[in-house]
Amino acid sequence: MFKNKNYLYGPQDLYLPANLNFGEFILEKLWNYKDKVALIDGLTHKLYKYGQIAQEATNLAISLAQLGVRKGETVAILSENRREFFSTLIGSACTGAILTAINPLYTKDEMNHVMKISKPKYVFCSPLAYKSHEKTLKANKKIKNIILFGDQKFDNSLLFNDMAIVNGSNNGITRNVTFDELQVVEVEGQTDTFMILYSSGTTGLPKGVMLTHRNILGTCLCRPIDYSDGVIMSIGPWFHAMGLVGTLCVFTIGQPMAFLAKFDVESLLKTVEKHKVEMLALVPAAMVAVLKAPAKYDFSSVRRVIVGAAPAHADTIRDFAAKYPNVTGIVLGYGMTESSLAIARHPFRKDGRTMSASVGQVLNNTVLKIVDVETRVPLGPNQTGEICFKGPMLMKGYVGKDRAEDFDDEGFLKTGDVGYYDEQKYIYVVDRLKELIKYKAIQVAPAEIEALLLQHEAVREAGVVGVADKEAGELPMAFISVQPGKRVTEREIQEFVAQRLSNPKHLRGGVRFVDEIPKNPTGKILRKALRSMANSTKSKL
Ligand code: AMP
Repeated sequence: MFKNKNYLYGPQDLYLPANLNFGEFILEKLWNYKDKVALIDGLTHKLYKYGQIAQEATNLAISLAQLGVRKGETVAILSENRREFFSTLIGSACTGAILTAINPLYTKDEMNHVMKISKPKYVFCSPLAYKSHEKTLKANKKIKNIILFGDQKFDNSLLFNDMAIVNGSNNGITRNVTFDELQVVEVEGQTDTFMILYSSGTTGLPKGVMLTHRNILGTCLCRPIDYSDGVIMSIGPWFHAMGLVGTLCVFTIGQPMAFLAKFDVESLLKTVEKHKVEMLALVPAAMVAVLKAPAKYDFSSVRRVIVGAAPAHADTIRDFAAKYPNVTGIVLGYGMTESSLAIARHPFRKDGRTMSASVGQVLNNTVLKIVDVETRVPLGPNQTGEICFKGPMLMKGYVGKDRAEDFDDEGFLKTGDVGYYDEQKYIYVVDRLKELIKYKAIQVAPAEIEALLLQHEAVREAGVVGVADKEAGELPMAFISVQPGKRVTEREIQEFVAQRLSNPKHLRGGVRFVDEIPKNPTGKILRKALRSMANSTKSKL
């Protein structure tokens, strides 16, 4: 059989253990790095060593098993970035449980939607998240235990500190468990789900992306951050693949990772100065924020910047490079929740500055093709089409959804992204076929806002698209046709959405009133038409 000359093959240099539990893999690494700093909290400046996380995870694995956690049951983490996060993730992986990380800023309905998908039985919760979601969690009859981070106990919840740290409490674990004593639950690495994260994919509401032990193991082994020997800082929230799986990649190589519970540019810059951050992983909106911030902190330790999770403007990169001449490399990475992390990333070069509009070449063990959107025929260099890929980092599928809808008959995922590659096999992402809007790199599914808008008594039809914005990337904007005899204003519609959906989904791009939403004969919204209407300045009231 010949290879397809139009496919891009990443180096095929990785052999992955088929049945290794990711928890066991990473726990062993953590124990080996035990005296090194693992996490730096950018707000409190507290440092946490690998040994501390390893001990907590090992103890927690035993406590969870004693609590009754079994292979295949779901453990949720509902928290802002906090030090207990990875001890929890690794400890629960060792029990064979499925881990789901949920955005703590979700509204009640958003929370119920994702919990219906992943069905957690055990929920680890930060005090902040518990305050917001106490009622929702208590009303969910599938949840057996709520385990709180921090010191404060509410009602009959349990405490992470009692389950993971030997602290003399009567309820808690009474001695530290060693790694040698721990029997990690065996898994089928290729098929057993390790994580459920959420993505709307190419269409519809957020879905549960099932990532297996082998997906994450493969990512950590062949997406190594081998280009930094200093402090790495990622501002990504840990309920999203870039922050979550990116941190696991850093743990694999034993470097220190600085984090923030909540992104603000001042805290980022202070952390960079105080901890001499060497490499930054940013989303484009954060890059704009850093660019616009007054240069009152020392940024000279930063050598490399990696930008991903959404398209970055070429002039942002150019201006950033001009403002920070000490940065020798600014590179783009392209990936998605469904690919665990990156599919392509531009390499950092040792000789001189690296900057490129390309997202680089396809990474190890991944095969990528660009296909004609209509005919599905694979295209050659400089021809634009849909990006499709496959490899051991590609998700198993979406919870409860037939694979045939998203994968082609060769097993490639149809990403819904549009791009091309040049003669040197550098890939460029230029557009999106899928419905997805990215506000500050956070996913916004138009279908979710549309479904809500239809519940408004004055709304007959609704269509939502993203409009370009230099700082946020895109802003959600709604087109609405009004029920005969009803009246409603832009402000009322914006408030209606703001009261019911989380912040990124608010209609910052505005509301336009139209007689009819353009649709195809089967009733599907013609988003391309809406997008070009959004770009025209006329609004009809
Ligand atoms: P998520 O699953 O939230 O990480 O979103 C993945 C989507 O973000 C991709 O399918 C792309 O549409 C977009 N994306 C990620 N990285 C890039 C990039 N470097 N350039 C353009 N779009 C990107």
